[in-house]
Amino acid sequence: MAKEDYYELLGVDKTASEEDLKKAYRKKAVQYHPDKNPGNKEAEEMFKKVSEAYEVLKDPQKRAAYDRYGHAAFTGGGGARGPGGGGGMGGFHDPFDIFREVFGGGGGGGGIFDQFFGGGGGGGGGGQDGSDLRYDLEITLEEAASGVEKEIAFRKAATCERCHGSGAEPGSKRVTCPTCRGSGQVRRSAGIITFTQPCPTCGGSGSKIEKPCTACRGEGRTPQTVKINARIPAGVDTGSRLRKSGLGEAGVSGGQPGDLYIVIHVKDHGIFERQDDDLFCEIPIKFTLAALGGSIEVPTLFGKGTLKIPPGTQSGTTFRIKGKGMPSLRGQHQGDQIVRVHVEVPAKLTAEQRKALEAYAAAMGDPHDPEQPKGFFKNLFKDD
Ligand SMILES: [Zn+2]
Ligand SMILES: [Zn+2]
Repeated sequence: MAKEDYYELLGVDKTASEEDLKKAYRKKAVQYHPDKNPGNKEAEEMFKKVSEAYEVLKDPQKRAAYDRYGHAAFTGGGGARGPGGGGGMGGFHDPFDIFREVFGGGGGGGGIFDQFFGGGGGGGGGGQDGSDLRYDLEITLEEAASGVEKEIAFRKAATCERCHGSGAEPGSKRVTCPTCRGSGQVRRSAGIITFTQPCPTCGGSGSKIEKPCTACRGEGRTPQTVKINARIPAGVDTGSRLRKSGLGEAGVSGGQPGDLYIVIHVKDHGIFERQDDDLFCEIPIKFTLAALGGSIEVPTLFGKGTLKIPPGTQSGTTFRIKGKGMPSLRGQHQGDQIVRVHVEVPAKLTAEQRKALEAYAAAMGDPHDPEQPKGFFKNLFKDD
C-alpha cells in the first residue's frame, strides 16, 4: 500500500509555512486523538500518520529531503537513494510525544484535554467569567459621616436555582457535540479561504448538554433580583467605590463570578459643604453681636455646638470647630467644621432702635462725614 502524501495528510499545500503546518497538525491531532475516539482503530491510525507527517515537515532538513525523494528519504535500509545512506533519517517518535510537544507538556491532570475537548467537568479555569456590576448608591452626608448599612436590590444574571449552574436539566448529562463531533471547532470557507472557528453549537467546548435546563435554557444562570446588605464605611465621599467580591454576575460553565462595585454619591446638604474632610458652612450674625462679642449656637453634623464670637468680629471671618468635620476613610483623622460668619445689617428698624443707633452714630461723629472710611476718601480725591 502506497504511503499517503504528508502534505495531503495534513491538508496543506507544499508551500505551507511552519505556522500553517503547526495549525494543520493541531487540528488533525485533536480530531483523531484516541482520547476523542475511544476504540476507533482508524482514528488511531490517522493520529499516528498525521504525527509522522508533522514530525517530518516541521524539520526543514527532513522536509527538504521529503520534497526531493518522497517517502523513500526515510525508508532506511534498502533505499537506493536515501540521502544519508541507510536509515539515517528514519525512526519516528511516539506520536504522543509530538502531540505533547505541540500542545504544551503534560501539566496538571490533562489540562490540555479539558481545553480542547471540554471534558473534565470544568475543574479549573475554562468557562466564561461573570461580568462586574456597578451600583450607584445615594446617601446623605450624615450617613457618610457615621457609616451606614444599606439593603440594596438589583437585577443580575445569577446562578440558576434549578440546575445549580450546570445548565443541564436535573437527571440529564453532557454528550459529545454533534456539530463538531467533539473537536470544538468547525471549518468555514469564504471563497477560496478555509478557516476554522469555535463551534457555534457548543461554543468550542466540544460537548453539549443532552437536555438543557428548562429554567435557564442551558445557560446555567437566570435573571434574578438579589438583595444584599452593604456596609458603607464612615468617611466615604462621592465617587468612592466599594468592591464586593463575587457579587457580580454569575459565571458560565464554571467561570468565576464578577464583582459588584458600589459607587457612592453623597447628596448635597442644606447647610454643609464638604471640602475634603472639613465641613464648611456660613452663618449670619447680628452686627451688634459682631461688635460686642458673645456666643452663638451653631449646627454641626453631630448635633448642636457653640461658637464664641470675639468682640469686633468682621463679616467674612472664619472660625474652626475642631473635630466636627468628616472622619477620614482610612485612619483616625477627623476633619473640622469651618464656620464663616457674615454680619447682617438690619433691614428695618423700630423707632426705638433707630434712636439708639442715631445716638451711637452721634457718638462716632458726623454721620455725613463718616470717620471709618476716611482714608479711602482721602485717597480717592487726593489729586483733585
Ligand atoms: Zn438551569
Ligand atoms: Zn461543537
